[in-house]
Formats: sequence, C-alpha cells, structure tokens
Amino acid sequence: MVKIKCVDYGFECDYVIEVESQDLLEKFGAHMTQIHGIEYQKESLMTMLVSKLNKK
Ligand SMILES: [Zn+2]
Repeated sequence: MVKIKCVDYGFECDYVIEVESQDLLEKFGAHMTQIHGIEYQKESLMTMLVSKLNKK
C-alpha cells in the first residue's frame, strides 16, 4: 500500500489517498482532474506509484 499526497506533487491540498489497487489510483486521477484541473494519463499515475514504491 502506498500513500499518495497532493502536497508531494506541489499542490496546496491536504488530500491523501492510500492506494491499494488500480481503482484507487484512478480515484486519485479523478481528484487531480476535478480539483486541480490537471488530467493525468493512467501511465503517468502508474509512474508516480512505481517511483513511490521504489523509494521504500
Ligand atoms: Zn489535491
């Protein structure tokens, strides 16, 4: 499980999501689109997730 925080990506936003599955990754993507007006491709989200995983 990986915690993704908007703050980590430079947003002034306290949104945090614990990503356990692809569904939740898509939910984060939806948050980005709706709240921040940025559309991330699924591949970009996966890259974020993978780089998070590699940090551990
Ligand atoms: Zn946010």
